[in-house]
Amino acid sequence: MRNNIPPQLPPLREVIAKYGLDANKALGQNFLLDEQLLDRIAAIPGDLKNINIFEVGPGPGGLTRALLRAGAIVTVVERDARCIPALEELSSYFPNQLTIIEGDALKINPSDYIDGEYHLLSNLPYNIGSALTVKWLSEQQWPPRWLSLSLMFQKEVANRIVAKPNSKSYSRLSILAGWRSDAHIAMKVHRSAFTPSPKVMSAVVHIVPKDNPAGVSLATLENITAHAFGQRRKMLRQSLKSIKGALEALKANDIDDTLRAEVITIEQYIELSRYLEYKP
Ligand code: SAM
Repeated sequence: MRNNIPPQLPPLREVIAKYGLDANKALGQNFLLDEQLLDRIAAIPGDLKNINIFEVGPGPGGLTRALLRAGAIVTVVERDARCIPALEELSSYFPNQLTIIEGDALKINPSDYIDGEYHLLSNLPYNIGSALTVKWLSEQQWPPRWLSLSLMFQKEVANRIVAKPNSKSYSRLSILAGWRSDAHIAMKVHRSAFTPSPKVMSAVVHIVPKDNPAGVSLATLENITAHAFGQRRKMLRQSLKSIKGALEALKANDIDDTLRAEVITIEQYIELSRYLEYKP
C-alpha cells in the first residue's frame, strides 16, 4: 500500500540513517520497516479516522505513520531522545495529528494525556511488555478509558496471555487477562520482519475489556494465583494452604484440593476470590 504514503514521506530506512537511530538493545529496539505489515497492525482496532490512539515506543515512527495515514489522532511516548526529531519531522506531514512525549511509558498514565476514550497500540519493547500489560489490565477504573490493546509480544508471552486451562502456557498472566477482558492473537509476525531480527517469533495480541466480575478484587485474585502458580506442580491444598480460608473456599466451591493450578478455570479462580472476600 505504498500508494497511501504521502509522496514526500521518506522511507523508514532513510529516517533511521538520517537521525542515526542504530538499534539500542537495552531499549528493546527491533524496528518494523514493512509498510504493508504496519498498515495491517494499525488496522487491528478497526476504523481509526479521528480516533484517539496512544502508542508506546514509536522509535523511528513506522507504526506511528501507519496510524496517522489511517486518520488517527495519535499520542506517542518514546524513551529514546534520538527518536524525537524524527517524530517531529513525521508530525510536520500530519499537522495537528501527533503529540510526542519524551518519557518512560512505565511511569506515565495515558489517560493523563488524552481526553475521552482511546486505543492503545505498541510494538512493545520486550523487556517491559509484560509489566506494561499488567499495569493496563490492573487499572482501578473498569471498564478503563482504553477501548482495546493491540500489542506485539514475543510469541511465548502472547501465548501466555491467551492461554486456556490445561496448557503449559496457562499462567497468572492468562488469568489476569481473562478475568476482565477478551484476548486473542490477531497476527503472528515472523522474526525476519524486524530490524534487527530478534531470536524469537512474535505475535500481536488484541485485548478488549469486558465487564468486571462482581464482588472480586484484583488483589485477592492475584494473591490466589500467585500462590497457586508459584508452586504450580503442587496440589492446591499445599500451594494455597497459607492463605486464610482458601482450603474452605475450595471445598465450598466443589474444587478438588488435589488438583493443580493449571487445571483450574478462570471462573473457578473468580469463585475462590469471591468466597474469600465474602466468607460467611
Ligand atoms: N514502534 C517502532 C517499530 O515498530 O518499529 C519501534 C518498536 S521497538 C520494538 C520499541 C520502542 O520502544 C523503541 O523505540 C524504544 O526506544 C522504545 N522504548 C523502550 N523502552 C521504553 C519505555 N520505557 N518507554 C517508552 N518507550 C520505550
